Amino acid sequence: MQDTLTLQLVGKQLLSKSGGAKEAFHLTFEQVSGEPFDYRCGDSAALWPENDRDDMESILLHWGIEKEQRINDITMEELFQRQYCIAHLTERFLEAVREQLGRQEREVFDRYRDEHAFQTASLGDVIDLFPSVKFTAAELPPLLKKMKPRLYSIASATALRADRMDLAIVVVSYENFRKRNRYGVASHYLCHRLPLRKPIRAFIAHAKFGLPVDTSKDIIMVGPGTGIAPFRAFLQERAVLRTGGTAVGRNWLFFGEQYRASNFYYRDEFEHWQHSGDLTYLDLAFSRDQDYKIYVQDRMRERGEELWNWLRGGAYFYVCGEAAHMAKDVEGALLEIIHHHGGVDTPEKFLQHLKEENRYQRDVY
Ligand SMILES: Cc1cc2nc3c(=O)[nH]c(=O)nc-3n(C[C@H](O)[C@H](O)[C@H](O)COP(=O)(O)OP(=O)(O)OC[C@H]3O[C@@H](n4cnc5c(N)ncnc54)[C@H](O)[C@@H]3O)c2cc1C
Repeated sequence: MQDTLTLQLVGKQLLSKSGGAKEAFHLTFEQVSGEPFDYRCGDSAALWPENDRDDMESILLHWGIEKEQRINDITMEELFQRQYCIAHLTERFLEAVREQLGRQEREVFDRYRDEHAFQTASLGDVIDLFPSVKFTAAELPPLLKKMKPRLYSIASATALRADRMDLAIVVVSYENFRKRNRYGVASHYLCHRLPLRKPIRAFIAHAKFGLPVDTSKDIIMVGPGTGIAPFRAFLQERAVLRTGGTAVGRNWLFFGEQYRASNFYYRDEFEHWQHSGDLTYLDLAFSRDQDYKIYVQDRMRERGEELWNWLRGGAYFYVCGEAAHMAKDVEGALLEIIHHHGGVDTPEKFLQHLKEENRYQRDVY
C-alpha cells in the first residue's frame, strides 16, 4: 500500500511555444503539510484527477440529480466529479443505455457501436445522442468506471530541492467520433483546471528505473516528448553530486519532438548543462522541421560508433516515453548498433545481458 500524499500546485509554466500541435506544461507541486518529498530519480507520481466540472454539472442537470443529494453520505458532486469517470464509458453502461432505446434509436446506437465510435464517447455524448435515456443517481455508479490516478514521471531531483516536485505533462487532445475536440481527463485537469494551492491526492510510485548506484558510470538517456521528464531529474541529481565533489560519469541525452521552435522543452537548462560540462552530448531530433521525418533512433544510428564506445565502456542506457512505436524503434536501433559497431553476432543476447546488469532500463507508456 502506498502512502497517500496531499499535494498543491505552486507553479505552472507553458513548456511548449505557439505554433506546434502539442501543448506541454511544467507543473510544480509541494506537499500541503510542508514536509519534504522522499522520491528517488526515476520514480513517478500518481495523481487523482477530477472530471471537467462543466461536464459533470450538465449531466446532473439533464437527469435532475441534485449535487447535494447523498448516497452513503457521499454527495453526487463528489461522486461524479472525483470518484467516477464520465469521460470514458464501460460496456455495462452502454448496454444499459441500449436497453432503454426504441427500435429506431437502437439502430443508430448499433451503427455507432459497430464503428467503434463509443471508444471516444463520453457520458455527455450519449446524453446528446439519446436524450430520452434516463438513470437515477443510485443506478449510475455500478455502471461507470472508477476514477483512476494517472502516473507522471517526476522531472526533478530531491538532491536539488526536496520541498518540490516537478512534472512535465503534455495535454492529451483529440477529435472524437462526433468531430468534437476532447481532452484527456487528467492532463486537462492538471494543466488547465487545477487552481494553485488546491489540495490534490497523490502517491509516489517507486520505480526500478533509476540512476546507477555507482555514480561514476556514464549514462545514455533517450527521452523524446514527455520522456524527457525523468532525465531532467537525472541531470539535476548528477549536477548536484558533481558540484559537491562526487565523481560522476558522463551524461548523453537524445531528445526529440515535432518542432524545434515550439517543442524544445527545457532548452535553456539543457544548454546550461552543456556549458557546465554536465551534459557531454545533446542529440536532437525534431521530426517535422524538414520534409522527411527524423527521430531519436535516427540520431542514435548517426552516432552509432560513439554510442557503442560508451556501451563498451560500461554505460547505462535508458529509454523513457511512448511505448507503441518509439521504444520499439529505439531498441531496434540499439540492436543494429551493437551488431554493426560492436561486431556482435547475437545483439539480442548482448541486450539481455545489459538488462540483467540493469544497464538497459525502460520506462515506457
Ligand atoms: C510510468 C508512466 C509515466 C508517465 N509519465 C508521463 C509524463 O511524464 N508526462 C505525460 O504527459 N504523461 C505521462 N504518462 C501518461 C499519463 O499517465 C496519462 O496516461 C496521460 O496524461 C493521459 O491521461 P489523461 O487522463 O489526460 O487522458 P485519458 O482521459 O486517460 O485519455 C487517454 C485516452 O484518450 C484516448 N485518446 C487519446 N488520443 C486519442 C486520439 N488521437 N484519438 C482517439 N482517442 C484518443 C484514448 O482512448 C486514450 O486511452 C505516463 C504514464 C506512465 C504509465
